[in-house]
Amino acid sequence: MIRCAGSLRAALLVAAASFGAASAAAESEAPAPGVSLQLAQARASNISRLRYELVLSIPETLAQPVTGTNELRFHLADPTKPLVIDFDAEGASEATITVNGVGVPTRAVNGHLVIPAAPLRLGENTVRIDFRAGNAPLNRSKDLLYTLFVPAQAHRAMPCFDQPDLKGRWTITLEHPAQWQSVANGAERDRRRTGSQVRVRFRQTQPLPTYLVAFVVGDMKVETATRQGRPMRMFHRENDAAKLARNREALFDLHAESLEALEKYTGIPYPFVKFDFVLVPALQFGGMEHAGNIVYRAEALLLDESATQEDRLSRAHLIAHETAHMWFGDLVTMRWFDDVWTKEVFANFIADKVIGPLFPHVRHDLQFFLGNHGSAYSVDRSAGANPIRQPLDNLSGAGSLYGPIVYNKSPVVMRQLEALLGDASFRDGVRTYLRRHSFANATWDDLIAALAGRTKLDLRHWSRMWIDEPGRPVIRTALEVNDGRVQRLALQQSDPQRRNRLWPQQLRVTVGCGQKPKRIVAELVGDEVDLTRLLDGCVPDYVLAGGEGWGYGEFELETRSQAYLETAIPSLADPLTRGVAWSALWDALLGGRMATGRWVDMALLNLRAERDAQLIGEWLADLNVVWWRFLTPAQRAERAPGLEALLRGRLDAAADPGLKSTWFAALRNAATTPTTVAWLRSLWQREATIAGLPLVEADETALAYALAIRGVDGEQKLLDTQRDRITNPDRKARFEFVRAAASADAGERERWFRALEDPANRRQEVWVGQGLRLLNHSLRADHAAALLPKALDMLLEVNRTGALFFDASWMYASLHGHSSPQAAATVSRFIENLPADYPPRMRALILQSSDLLIRAARTRAP
Ligand SMILES: [Zn+2]
Repeated sequence: MIRCAGSLRAALLVAAASFGAASAAAESEAPAPGVSLQLAQARASNISRLRYELVLSIPETLAQPVTGTNELRFHLADPTKPLVIDFDAEGASEATITVNGVGVPTRAVNGHLVIPAAPLRLGENTVRIDFRAGNAPLNRSKDLLYTLFVPAQAHRAMPCFDQPDLKGRWTITLEHPAQWQSVANGAERDRRRTGSQVRVRFRQTQPLPTYLVAFVVGDMKVETATRQGRPMRMFHRENDAAKLARNREALFDLHAESLEALEKYTGIPYPFVKFDFVLVPALQFGGMEHAGNIVYRAEALLLDESATQEDRLSRAHLIAHETAHMWFGDLVTMRWFDDVWTKEVFANFIADKVIGPLFPHVRHDLQFFLGNHGSAYSVDRSAGANPIRQPLDNLSGAGSLYGPIVYNKSPVVMRQLEALLGDASFRDGVRTYLRRHSFANATWDDLIAALAGRTKLDLRHWSRMWIDEPGRPVIRTALEVNDGRVQRLALQQSDPQRRNRLWPQQLRVTVGCGQKPKRIVAELVGDEVDLTRLLDGCVPDYVLAGGEGWGYGEFELETRSQAYLETAIPSLADPLTRGVAWSALWDALLGGRMATGRWVDMALLNLRAERDAQLIGEWLADLNVVWWRFLTPAQRAERAPGLEALLRGRLDAAADPGLKSTWFAALRNAATTPTTVAWLRSLWQREATIAGLPLVEADETALAYALAIRGVDGEQKLLDTQRDRITNPDRKARFEFVRAAASADAGERERWFRALEDPANRRQEVWVGQGLRLLNHSLRADHAAALLPKALDMLLEVNRTGALFFDASWMYASLHGHSSPQAAATVSRFIENLPADYPPRMRALILQSSDLLIRAARTRAP
């Protein structure tokens, strides 16, 4: 209320001081909330040579605000219009502003400060703003502060031009308690200590968009190392010395190897002046690529002794991904967030290239397939599928652009593009693109332009189907066998939405002919391609149109192939072919072309025989979904002894701790029989052990939750003991937060959930996600179903107040244990009754995250 009155007064003052009726009229126009495309375009054409000088004071106690000054220097091409600076924090209207040395009244409107035109000049201008910082993107806890400004959150902390194509050079000074460490994008220039405080000045950065600006301040330790002459620092809060020692060298090495590979691929030396990274416990993201100052989720990098091969691959991939962003995103930035996928696709695509040589014993084509296709399909098979590139009219909606389509479909598509152009030609085009737009911005069209001269292919048509359209083609195999001879083999594609869309792509069909499968390369451009001639008389046992994990679509097996593969996957020699066959059967299950019981039999048959660690991990995850969501409790009970015996047998027989860890986690997740639950308890009580697999704190915590969910006796005391076993303060705080969500007392669980209505209780987003998954576990789903309407209601608010990805993790965690027709009906009703102005991307998110629920409920419906 006060803010409105204040703005009105300021608006009148401004109008009175300015020249002419036209500018007075312009000034009375209020900029829309968020950062609109229109505002961004107007500013980008007006503002240049942008520099920021930011000074922030960070107090020791949380109760005191962070205060500061930001001095913005820039050139204006047109000083006749009011200037809009973004600042959306509680105290924004109390900021004091001077423009070119002259004080101006503060006009705070819709999350912006509107600077009157009068004191602005053609050419160089200086706007100095003293302000109280907003806390939301500062992630403050009692002894740690870390910023996350992506995609446009910087202005919720401090005044700035919060759009990706206004890159500025930042000079940052941080004042904070002297016992704390601090790190920012720029190299440290000097520090001055006064009593209990220290003032640290960082050197000016290269041009950076606001979303890449970052600093971390707090109680941290620092490790340093030098690789290839480059000093690196790692900031962290780990108090387990052995854990740190076990990971330290690998973390520096992985970064050094990634940097080297990127320099080689791009032909451009590491673009920024220094290289640090920070490990933040329970960070909202796996990592964030702040230039020269990457932050990571500590848990993703500091691995336990029992880490699986998958954990190691994921860690290497994450590091390579964030490091790749130093070129893709940081050096060359998308002009607007509708092209955010261009930086993510390269980060993932190049990360795959980087980690290849680091894990020579791993099948990387299989890893690529498992890491991307399944995840992208989970969205593209849903009714909420979105295209890779999505239009965006305001950065307030930028957070909802991210997801499996951006992260996982786009690398598949980019690999096709690379194959069409040839590796070297593709790389040269990418190099041209990077050189052309260094320290500036670019669009997808700019990349197409850099590639277009290198191919005869119509890249624009290709791009329209793969980049701008949602969904995937259905690809059917037509196989006619008569009198022991193949009459016809053809591939046909169709549009599941019946809009006659055709996706041009190359397929590498695997045909099961005798001992060695046959490979047929097919260009599926129109609706059908005939392959009969290419069979050379072979009568196939099976045809996998998505062979080698190369194609993208719903590959419907014809009857002969499906019947064969339901029992024959273990006999296929190539692990990638086994993976592709499994994926086709997974689609068959979800598409209603394979009965659940048959699928489970198929899964058990394969899990009994499989030797490939990558496949085992992936298949166990699929089985876990079917086990809890597609089987009824009675079906589960009937099959439980058999499954548990299988898992226990493979756990005992596994040779290395990583694989043992995989089998053990699967057994812990699936366990329901009293014998196995009692055995898990004795492990947790340290009365039993597993030969060759030492259980660490994380294992015991997971066991404690698993036992609590299964309603074992004395569950509160068990959770108390587990809390006392945890020595790391960050992990202990997390446990204390999450445990109520696993309580046997339904009232306590409900109170935990209701408390999330207060945004302050949702600040630790990773903790909330974990708690929601426990609360909504299938064994608790009957109770949790009653809370589902509230979780759905809260989505918009969660999207508005949370960091990137939190809306998605909120929805997926809230739905992940449900499979009842009632829960499905709750979601369907909610979608049907949405108001017309409900954000389409949030609606799409609900459809995506409820896809398995709807399919499971349909399967289980009597
Ligand atoms: Zn990324």
